[in-house]
Amino acid sequence: MKTPICNFDAKTGTLCNKCDSRLKLGHITDGDVQASIKMAKLAQKNQDIDKFTLVAAHNIDDEIILFLKNSDITLIRSDQKILDLIKKEFDNKVWFVESGASDKRFLENMLFPLKISLMNMVWLPDGNKLTKIIVSNQSKLELQAKKIQNIAKKIKNIEVIIEFGDNNS
Ligand SMILES: [Zn+2]
Repeated sequence: MKTPICNFDAKTGTLCNKCDSRLKLGHITDGDVQASIKMAKLAQKNQDIDKFTLVAAHNIDDEIILFLKNSDITLIRSDQKILDLIKKEFDNKVWFVESGASDKRFLENMLFPLKISLMNMVWLPDGNKLTKIIVSNQSKLELQAKKIQNIAKKIKNIEVIIEFGDNNS
């Protein structure tokens, strides 16, 4: 498993001098460290997870956003056992995003399994940009909308408005 910190650190839960100074310099974050240690633990139990590449992780208000290789995300979405293992390790406060995702893809990942039925950019008179999203099914999302807004703002600097509409596909 590849993580933002060395393998040894991830397995032992202690940072070597090199990784420690990268943390202090802000090259990696506390979220990277926490997630690397947790994922390394899971990698020892599961061979598929052991092949994952954790590119980065962000800790935002105790929610952990994992940036993984695209194929890793595909596997997580299709393998309930792996999904459950990861969710359990992160106390259910975990989100999966494809590394290198565009803003749109980032939001699609955050909203998964809901589909975005419409996405609009709205420019405000002050030059700020709002991203307006309409999703068709609100049942699962209502409680998550605020979290998604907050995470999108902090990681991608996207000011997002999520609205619930009828399925117009
Ligand atoms: Zn290290």
